[in-house]
Amino acid sequence: RESVRTAGVTKVYGQGGAEVHALRGVDVGFGAGEFTAIMGPSGSGKSTLLHCLAGLDAVTSGAVWLGDIEITALTDRELTKLRREHIGFIFQSFNLLPTLTARENILLPLEIAGRRPDPRLVERVVERVRLADRLGHRPSELSGGQQQRVAVARALVSRPEVIFADEPTGNLDSNSGTDLLEFLRVSVDEFGQTIIMVTHDPHAASYADRVVFVRDGQFVHELDRPTADTVL
Ligand code: ADP
Ligand code: ADP
Repeated sequence: RESVRTAGVTKVYGQGGAEVHALRGVDVGFGAGEFTAIMGPSGSGKSTLLHCLAGLDAVTSGAVWLGDIEITALTDRELTKLRREHIGFIFQSFNLLPTLTARENILLPLEIAGRRPDPRLVERVVERVRLADRLGHRPSELSGGQQQRVAVARALVSRPEVIFADEPTGNLDSNSGTDLLEFLRVSVDEFGQTIIMVTHDPHAASYADRVVFVRDGQFVHELDRPTADTVL
């Protein structure tokens, strides 16, 4: 089963003489319960593709589906609702609210969506990302690795259809990075999460089930069961 798929997605930035064709017709699918990495050279369109898949950026033409829903056919209002209810985000910048504690940050998306947290799931996730003794701390009192784990816990507790991660290890030292990748792996294996991650790091990609390569705004090839050597 595919969780996210695209048909003929193009994205053009700017207009007139200054057009940038960031995506030039992308047809690709992402399996449910699978951890997929998107790799490619700098400027090849990886972030643009991720943003179009997640409904953060409008496509210029083509279609994106999340399950049975064509997200490219939704109004802005419907899209905002869909993002809140079905999509999780983990960005390079952790995007935590500085005045809220770790616990409040983790529960915020559920609160915004008017949903009641599942206390057992919250407890399991918090244990798994080793934040149990940090829940009352504000982001400024946490290390970078701990802040990113708060962001991961926040994404997981709402049980989103898909988590989109954009260079999630980009601002972490290598130990915290490995830690995070192991936790993403666990969230797929133990929680059945679907993850789509953009990275330029072969070590990060080696944690995925599959790597999709992008070049010049096009899907060029893919690799199953990647290792740090085979993705190079
Ligand atoms: P990657 O993530 O692979 O580095 P991006 O998706 O960020 O690639 O960028 C793809 C192309 O689109 C690049 O040429 C980039 O300069 C251009 N681009 C990205 N965002 C914008 C924007 N907001 N306005 C204009 N051009 C952009
Ligand atoms: P970069 O990769 O360039 O450091 P980010 O990945 O943090 O930047 O953000 C890329 C884009 O996604 C920005 O336009 C930002 O406004 C948007 N964005 C970041 N975090 C969120 C979020 N949690 N929800 C919705 N949009 C977000």
